[in-house]
Amino acid sequence: MQKYCDVIILGGGMVGLSIAYQLVKRDITKNIIIIDNENELGKHSSGRNSGVLHAGLYYKPNTIKAKVCVEGAKRLKEWVKDRKLAINQCGKIIVPQKAHLDNQLDVIAERGKANGAIIEMWDEKQLRSLIPEAISATGRAIWSPNTVVVNPKSILKQLELELTDKGVVFLVGQKDWSTKPEHKKIILRNGGEITYGHLINCTGLQADRVAHNFGVGLNFNILPFKGLYWQIKTSCPIQPKTNLYPVPDLNVPFLGVHFTPSAESPAVVSIGPTATPALGRYNYKGLEGLEPLMACSSLATLASQYISNRGGFRRYVHEQALLVLPHLIHKAAQELIPSLKLENIEKSKKVGIRSQLFNHITQSLEDDFICLPGESSTHVLNAISPAFTASFALADLIIEHTGLISNQKIKDVNI
Ligand SMILES: Cc1cc2nc3c(=O)[nH]c(=O)nc-3n(C[C@H](O)[C@H](O)[C@H](O)COP(=O)(O)OP(=O)(O)OC[C@H]3O[C@@H](n4cnc5c(N)ncnc54)[C@H](O)[C@@H]3O)c2cc1C
Repeated sequence: MQKYCDVIILGGGMVGLSIAYQLVKRDITKNIIIIDNENELGKHSSGRNSGVLHAGLYYKPNTIKAKVCVEGAKRLKEWVKDRKLAINQCGKIIVPQKAHLDNQLDVIAERGKANGAIIEMWDEKQLRSLIPEAISATGRAIWSPNTVVVNPKSILKQLELELTDKGVVFLVGQKDWSTKPEHKKIILRNGGEITYGHLINCTGLQADRVAHNFGVGLNFNILPFKGLYWQIKTSCPIQPKTNLYPVPDLNVPFLGVHFTPSAESPAVVSIGPTATPALGRYNYKGLEGLEPLMACSSLATLASQYISNRGGFRRYVHEQALLVLPHLIHKAAQELIPSLKLENIEKSKKVGIRSQLFNHITQSLEDDFICLPGESSTHVLNAISPAFTASFALADLIIEHTGLISNQKIKDVNI
């Protein structure tokens, strides 16, 4: 097989599908091939996340996250509603779990307002009116009415259907393709060759390795963090009807253990995700996916971060890194809902791994999305949360980066 396409997208997660969707929507091209190495879409982050469409509260103004989260959430929410997919418009509350974290509420509120998010400061009475069992260490809370919860897998499925309908080609199960960047070529395992105009790398947990094949982003490596979930048993009388989050450690890109009702009705309330070192990119279950080399280098990196305490890393280790045991996750949950008993919660089957990037030059975890140019190619790295939420707006920025469309044309068109 010899084929030409205008754009090859490597990785059929939410970022890759959103880029394809926006390329088609804007009439830039339909001559797109999406290559994924799994047999079906949604096997990694995009099919294994909390499904929260974030309202843009946490991100430092002027970061890419801050620029795309509010607009991306708005567009994706409308898209989901238009298609009558599951959505729980339940909002979100953030409470300080300890008194000394109270001033962080003001930082989050200021950032959120600067990013265009709608925020209200609530007192304990307002908090209890929504979740009677919840507490705030200082009586204050942030209310975010625009946070919603969706079903990520149903969104991926719908995008796949619509893109296929428009003529976009999906090649799944493509495990061992190789590349010749200088000839703009991808060679498939069966010998088939695809020549492309531009290639976009959105391979999530493999994005660093793929970028390295193009000589791009050599100072970055994925340092994967696992997110385990528990859930409240359906028999438990405590069932929060809205998202309930603690004040996060703003120095690390994790939001702390929180409660999230699912998109479906009646909702199942999940607790988590944790953020523990994964020691393997696909180490979802036990130690099945442990990568010994990666485990050694991850542990060495984490140890050096701990010793230098860069970005207050020790606080993350003490409070979040070891939350794998039921009684520890229960303790973290009790900081928000003290009356929740250990026997009220059970382990969920859901688990995801974050494609967190580590920068070997700055010796720190990257916080923002990163988009790097290569030869006739663009590489999307560190597509961590809220990349799912922001994907439609993030896709515009990435397309702009590829040079496939002028800036003005991007601004003129919506959804
Ligand atoms: C536990 C957890 C909870 C989260 N919660 C939220 C949330 O509530 N809200 C939110 O906005 N975000 C959340 N996120 C983040 C969000 O899931 C990601 O930002 C988003 O899904 C990233 O999408 P992606 O397309 O970059 O990656 P992925 O979904 O991982 O897609 C990458 C694709 O590339 C494919 N691939 C890999 N290697 C190759 C290769 N060599 N060749 C071809 N294909 C390849 C993979 O099979 C995969 O399909 C969460 C993440 C985790 C882990």
